[in-house]
Parts: sequence; C-alpha cells; structure tokens
Amino acid sequence: MFSSDEPLNLDAAGTITDLSPFFGGKLTVHMKRLDLIHPVLGGNKFFKLKYIIKKIKEEGHPGFITFGGAYSNHIAASALTAKLAGLKSTGIIRGENHDQLNPTLSFAEKCGMKLVYISRSDYKQRYSEKYQDNISKEFDNLPVIPEGGSNILGVKGASEILNNNDFNYDYYTVPAGSGGTATGLAISLPVKKKLIVYQVLKAKDIITEKIELFCSEMNLQSVENYEINTGYHLGGFGKLSSELIEFIRSFEQQTGVLVDPVYNGKMLYGLFDLIKSGYFPESSKILVINTGGGQGWYGFIQKASKNYLSNINSLLLN
Ligand SMILES: *Cc1c(COP(=O)(O)O)cnc(C)c1O
Repeated sequence: MFSSDEPLNLDAAGTITDLSPFFGGKLTVHMKRLDLIHPVLGGNKFFKLKYIIKKIKEEGHPGFITFGGAYSNHIAASALTAKLAGLKSTGIIRGENHDQLNPTLSFAEKCGMKLVYISRSDYKQRYSEKYQDNISKEFDNLPVIPEGGSNILGVKGASEILNNNDFNYDYYTVPAGSGGTATGLAISLPVKKKLIVYQVLKAKDIITEKIELFCSEMNLQSVENYEINTGYHLGGFGKLSSELIEFIRSFEQQTGVLVDPVYNGKMLYGLFDLIKSGYFPESSKILVINTGGGQGWYGFIQKASKNYLSNINSLLLN
C-alpha cells in the first residue's frame, strides 16, 4: 500500500528519459516524466489542480467537494492536495460502498477525504449545474471541483506542463480522458507543432469537442495543432488485455520505466504502432508526456489477487 506521507516533487516533471532505442533508434523519442512528481500517483492531476486549489484558498473556503470513480487518479490526487493545502475534502464516488476499501479509496481516506457513495445513475448527473448546486448545499456550501479537475482553471494549470526546454520537438503525445490536459498542452504549443492525443475511452472522438469548448470558454482562438487517435483504447477504459500487459512489461524491461496501464500504457502502445506504420517522417523528434497514474496498479493487483488477472503480479514482481 502506498503512503500519504510521500512528498510532492513538482521539479521532477523536468526529467527527460531517452526512449529512442526502444522505438528502433531512427527517431528521437524522449519522455517527460510527470510520473516522478509523486512516487505512485504522478502526474498531470497536480498541474490541473494548481489554480483550482489556489482559487478555493483565495475565496476562503475551508474545503471542496469532487467526483470520481472508485479507482480514480483524480480522487487520489485531490485528496492528497487537500491534505497538503490544509483543506477539507469530500469525494463523491461512483458506485456502492464496498466492505473493504480499494487502495485508491483507502489512500484518499488516509489523506482525510470524506467518501460518499452514490449510485451509477445519480453519478450520471455530475455535470449538471443544478445537481452540483444541490450537492454543494448538502455539504456545507463547499465549491465543487468537476471530475478529473477539468475546467478552465485545470486547463490553465495543464498549459504550464511544458516549459521552455520542451519546445524543441516536432510531435508531442499525451493520453486523454476528459481532454483537459490535452487542451492545456495544445494551447501552449506553437501552431506548427503537433500534439498526438490517445483517447482511452472506447468511443468516437469526444476530445475535439472538449478542446473547442474549453478554448471558447477561455476566449481563445480554437487550435488545430492536434490529432485525436481513437483506435488505442484496447478494449475500453480500464480494460487490460494480456497483449497490453506484455507490452508494458517489455517497455519496463528495456527502459526502466513502469507506466500505468489505463492511460500511458495505451498511449505508448499506440505510439509504437504509429511509428511502426511509418506515420512519422524520418528524423522526427517526439516528446512523450508521461502523465503518471501509477497508483492505478494497486487496484489491479488487489483484483489480481482475487484471480482477476494473475499475470499482473508476475509483471510487477519481475
Ligand atoms: C486523468 C489522467 C489523464 C487524462 O487527463 P484528462 O485531462 O482528463 O484528459 C491522463 N493520464 C493520467 C495518468 C490521468 O490520471
């Protein structure tokens, strides 16, 4: 089990790992290690939460309410951020209460987050303003942070992921759930660069609409320097195939980097496929953004110990 005492190290996000040999050596492929910000959590969520938390503090609220699934990186990250910022946090969790907390929820609870479970059908209303108002009234009128920290302040935080040392590449790659991180990256990149986005939800492209919506809410001109890949969900959100596990295992053996299976494993699998198919011109330079999310493994390991996917244990013990 991971600890809520591990500090955050935002400077570690500047670390770059060379992956070129793994991808065949013909292209330059570097990885930006947001996963090193926190030993098991990573990642992009701390950038997304930065301005959201700042505003909550400035407005003098004693805490906040947020939403997430039972294995959500956002729930773990916002619980830890609340603890570090001295705020109270309440997590509205999709699905029923379980007798035994999974590792994500038990971490959140250790950070001081109060967990409230709602049915999957109620959870569907999480984007409705009226529903959020009611939730807020129910919990001391505290402000509501949307699922995944994706609002325009979250996007603003994500637009600070790249710094001046990072603009020397032709392509940038990132996995996407709600699209807040992809939007932040796209608006921070010059128009001539290209952001390759790997949508992990099994659906038609839902990210383009999100990027356009965030840009209009932020009064920014819409951006076109990105491309959405919908073909690498590998069975759907949170689904792990043995092929994916094999891929992550060999990636770890060759690079020393264990990526999370829900987001970054699928992005890298997709990138590997695009490189193999000749998508990138010769001598292209690619920066892979590792968004973290390593805590997700603990939930899979817990399920694996119930014989869900027994080869995950061997993957991690190797
Ligand atoms: C939340 C998350 C993402 C997706 O970010 P969005 O802004 O929701 O698209 C990607 N990777 C990891 C590890 C995450 O936790």
